[in-house]
Amino acid sequence: MSDHLLWRYHDHVSAGHPGWKETYRSIGNRFFWTGMRESVRQYVARCHVCACVKPLNRKQDDPMRPRQPRQPWEVVSIDLMGPYPRSQRGKTCLLVATDCYSRWVEAYPLGQATAKTITDTLEREFFSRFGYARVLLSDNGTQFVSKTMEKALEKWGTEGWTTPIYHPRANPVERRNQDLKKGLRTALVDKPHSHWDSCIPNILFSIRNRRNRLTGSTPSERAFGREAKAPGDWLLDIISTGKNPKQIEMTGQKNIVTVKTPDNNNNSGVITENSDVFDRKTKISGGGEQPSQKFGLSSDKKDIGHKLSRENHRRRFKEGDWVYYRAHPLSSADKKFHAGFAPKWLGPVQLAKRLGEGVFVTKGKCQLKLHVTAMKYDASEGNPNKFSILQHVQQPKTGRGAPFHSALSPALGRNRKSHAAAGPQVDAASGGTAGGRI
Ligand SMILES: [Zn+2]
Repeated sequence: MSDHLLWRYHDHVSAGHPGWKETYRSIGNRFFWTGMRESVRQYVARCHVCACVKPLNRKQDDPMRPRQPRQPWEVVSIDLMGPYPRSQRGKTCLLVATDCYSRWVEAYPLGQATAKTITDTLEREFFSRFGYARVLLSDNGTQFVSKTMEKALEKWGTEGWTTPIYHPRANPVERRNQDLKKGLRTALVDKPHSHWDSCIPNILFSIRNRRNRLTGSTPSERAFGREAKAPGDWLLDIISTGKNPKQIEMTGQKNIVTVKTPDNNNNSGVITENSDVFDRKTKISGGGEQPSQKFGLSSDKKDIGHKLSRENHRRRFKEGDWVYYRAHPLSSADKKFHAGFAPKWLGPVQLAKRLGEGVFVTKGKCQLKLHVTAMKYDASEGNPNKFSILQHVQQPKTGRGAPFHSALSPALGRNRKSHAAAGPQVDAASGGTAGGRI
């Protein structure tokens, strides 16, 4: 049962492999069992998909400076991502629009990134729903500074602000894009890259319902006053408020759990819609911390997850350790393979022998020489949680167009012990950055 819940709120397509804290929050809003925090942390640390697609150290949220908007849909940031492999629907790039107040993200796959398609899409899909923005932020992309855009802005009564070319980070949409990119890598770990556009809705759902560390609430909460229900939430007989999660009792044996309805001390567990909305509202407009107040605070140094990743970083690798190693994928247009969608890490593989200072050779027929700067410890020690293996990392489809296959580690989707087939050779000395721009 707890295994299933972990899977449900971490691996499930509507969850999209969030970090352990977010997974914990998501389950904690609905269920509780003793030792839950630790089991969530461990589960996520051992997740094979996460291990492959996430960067080694999550960088701090860059406190995107000023222009604090006062309400949702007032300041909207737009950006173009791609080009990507042409999808079945003929889409090649992604228009991303983010509300700077709530950080609600909309993303529209486009066939052509012209000023015309961009302005049309914004008008048809974005402004019609959320209202016309006071300010539209963008970079200096040719489409954004075109005559067509200028005319559209005038028609909308919207100010167009462009960020300086050399400070793309000044555009807050950039930060959201990191989440989208991570979401795409995660979703495409077992799919052809040309399917990228069909993954977008689920990725957006999960981003919109993750707590933002700067605002302290989810985009859904800030934009609409409540979190969106995830699949199955209506079947839980309490309205999830985070206050009265279902108690789950571990009955000694691992994985045998019983679900209890909430205790009598929390009046039947039902929170009325009104009180809920009221709560949220006070959090949003009232005493809630302004994002800027949080900027100065150093993030929780005592945080276990962080400590763990730092330990892994400093860890002295030794023979017999299971590790992931940095991938160096190359895009290939005719194979519809996009390097930015490929996992950042391959493996796991087991270290056979130390060759010299910081250099190891791996076990198996295809021996890789790996440098410690290009590897990270596999928390599952070659034995990842079964759900990722069974349900998420399936054997990629082989056949003519299986670009995927060649780029992924042999260990993905196969018996990991027999790491034999040809994998990409990794230069022991290269500790270069993985991935690059999506
Ligand atoms: Zn995961």
